[in-house]
Amino acid sequence: MLKGTAASDGIGIGKVLVIEEVSLDYTPHTVEDKDAEVARFKAAVDAFIVETQAQAEALKASAGAKEADIMLGHISMVQDPALFGETEKLIQGGQCAEQAFESMCDMFIMVFSQAADDFMRQRAADVRDVKTGVLAQLLGVHEVKISDAPADTILLVKELTPSMTAGINKDNIVGIITETGGKTSHSAILARALEIPAVLSVENAAALMKTGDLVIADGSRGEVIQNPTEAELQDYTAQRETFLRNKRELEQFRGKETRDADGTAYELVCNIGKPEDAGKVLAGDGEGVGLFRTEFLFMDRTALPTEDEQFEAYKKAALALKGKPLIIRTLDIGGDKEIPYMGLAKEENPFMGFRAIRYCLKNRNLFRTQLRAILRASAFGDVKIMFPLITCMEEFREARALVEEIKNELRLTTGIPFNENIDVGVMVETSAAAVIADLLAKEAAFFSIGTNDLTGYTMAADRGNADVAYLYSVLQPGVLRLIKRTIEEGRKAGIPVGMCGEAAANPHLIPLLISFGLTEFSVGAPSVLNVRKCIARWTKEEADKVAEHAMSLDNEAEIAAYLESVI
Ligand code: PEP
Ligand code: MG
Repeated sequence: MLKGTAASDGIGIGKVLVIEEVSLDYTPHTVEDKDAEVARFKAAVDAFIVETQAQAEALKASAGAKEADIMLGHISMVQDPALFGETEKLIQGGQCAEQAFESMCDMFIMVFSQAADDFMRQRAADVRDVKTGVLAQLLGVHEVKISDAPADTILLVKELTPSMTAGINKDNIVGIITETGGKTSHSAILARALEIPAVLSVENAAALMKTGDLVIADGSRGEVIQNPTEAELQDYTAQRETFLRNKRELEQFRGKETRDADGTAYELVCNIGKPEDAGKVLAGDGEGVGLFRTEFLFMDRTALPTEDEQFEAYKKAALALKGKPLIIRTLDIGGDKEIPYMGLAKEENPFMGFRAIRYCLKNRNLFRTQLRAILRASAFGDVKIMFPLITCMEEFREARALVEEIKNELRLTTGIPFNENIDVGVMVETSAAAVIADLLAKEAAFFSIGTNDLTGYTMAADRGNADVAYLYSVLQPGVLRLIKRTIEEGRKAGIPVGMCGEAAANPHLIPLLISFGLTEFSVGAPSVLNVRKCIARWTKEEADKVAEHAMSLDNEAEIAAYLESVI
């Protein structure tokens, strides 16, 4: 099996078609009639533009307008004075058109390849594509037509250029393998837009496979299986069918509301770590953000972010969500989340130690700065505040009092707009918080259950320790009882209860959460449609039956087996 980059989901099974690069060899020579050479160059560029426009049209139909823009970008590139004008000058200096154009392109390819930014580096592929296209016109040679490839073809190319992608007919091309290109390359973007499985950057692929070889391209795992056995073929064919069926089924849930089979609505929101992710939430059909892990703003830098920096980040997320909810969790460092410049002392038992809300309450300036930034951002959307690792009432009261203090400051001294009625909630992720959920629910505006930590604390099992991994399960009766209790106490007090731990996307747990009365599911953006689908299949009555039976069992293995049997 060959490994590469998983660039476009799905499984392609078919025969390899190796696309050889066409020979663009020429002999550099000096030209006498420079004006005639410039005219030859212009004619080649014109022909390139006509061809590219046709490719863009084809791509618009197969992949969409955004993808076609990539091709149109090639036209702007070739017309750019920095490329076109400078080439003309070199020709006027006596170089032949091929040499003049190639040397200018090579210069840009070198500059782009050395850029620090991944996106800029990928632009080198575009210049290479333009270079090949114009040189082919000048030399009168033409590439193999991918659009003529037979059915069930797996394309194998050194580098998939956007112009090649334009010729791809989804009916014929079932997979793409390349030797270069990353997840953010245009090839990857286009492959995803065309929904063709793609494995990129497979080392020496062209030397290891030849046209006609039977291969499987697993674009979800980034694997290529050469000359598969009969058993492998059957296995991957079944996987491909499941993948396609799931995909079709999930698409029915795009743009829909999240409702169970009785029609009861739920909020289906996402977990994010960076403000930029907020835009992706709506694009992925999420209905807001149930957990913004703000510690990522504090990582990968050498000093604390200022109030303004934080304000801008929270505001950016709030604006991107266009009025949809944004729950910002205050700084949750310590435990497994280390930030070197903050100088946290090494502890014997960091998960039980000086972390999250405990650290913030003792480092008031840092906490105040963050709360001010969040409050200021609350003027730009439906922002809520959530405190992590709460274990007792005093912690929650102290933290909430600080919010009130800062509201006063903002009101009196600065007149900065903020939401006076901002919701302040508790993340229920310690066993203590779940046990006192009745008390917390009287003062918190909402709960969000953090099952990642709740499971660890309840089972006294570190989520990263393989030796105790058998205990670390959300389906342990101890954990399930605490989840149930938290939801029920929240409901009794009339506050919304969500879940932002990984378990919120666990199809096994969903009937139980519906039965207990969870109102909000906060999951990773790629899970949105699947969770919506899972919720849609349960009526409350069915979910209650499942929950009742699961809660009557006394061990994790039986609960897991039972839930597996019902979903
Ligand atoms: C949790 O503990 O469930 C949670 C969502 O928070 P984190 O994973 O950031 O600790
Ligand atoms: Mg946690």
